[in-house]
Amino acid sequence: MSDALTGSCLCGACTFTATPDEQEAGACHCGMCRKVAGGINIAVGCSDVTWNEGAPIKVYRSSDWAERGFCGTCGANLFWRAVGGDAGREVIALNAFDTPGAFPVTRQIFVDDKPDSYALAGDLVSLTGAEVRAMYAPEGGTT
Ligand SMILES: [Zn+2]
Ligand SMILES: [Zn+2]
Repeated sequence: MSDALTGSCLCGACTFTATPDEQEAGACHCGMCRKVAGGINIAVGCSDVTWNEGAPIKVYRSSDWAERGFCGTCGANLFWRAVGGDAGREVIALNAFDTPGAFPVTRQIFVDDKPDSYALAGDLVSLTGAEVRAMYAPEGGTT
């Protein structure tokens, strides 16, 4: 666990403090993340996330088990979280942090959904969508 860090949306109406679970970030190439982020969605798993009072956050339920938050004023992509997950547990967009450079990108998921237009450099842990679903399949589910 590291110290709480701060960040905001583009317009500054939404600000947060969050404690990163680890000092690294992951990229998701899935179709939903690409539509939400307008590019590669790079994010950091965090605990103890606290938003400022009155932050105009809008939440979009993107699947049966996940929802995504964005600023209702400027539209900035802010977080992903599991529906019914632990309070304060959110995966925050890397570039919402005031210090995004603090998190090297060490893994990427849904690599089979990545368009051919670009590729991340470096020696990353890479998982396909099927591999991710196998790891996080609901209890009783099969791969
Ligand atoms: Zn904003
Ligand atoms: Zn994704």
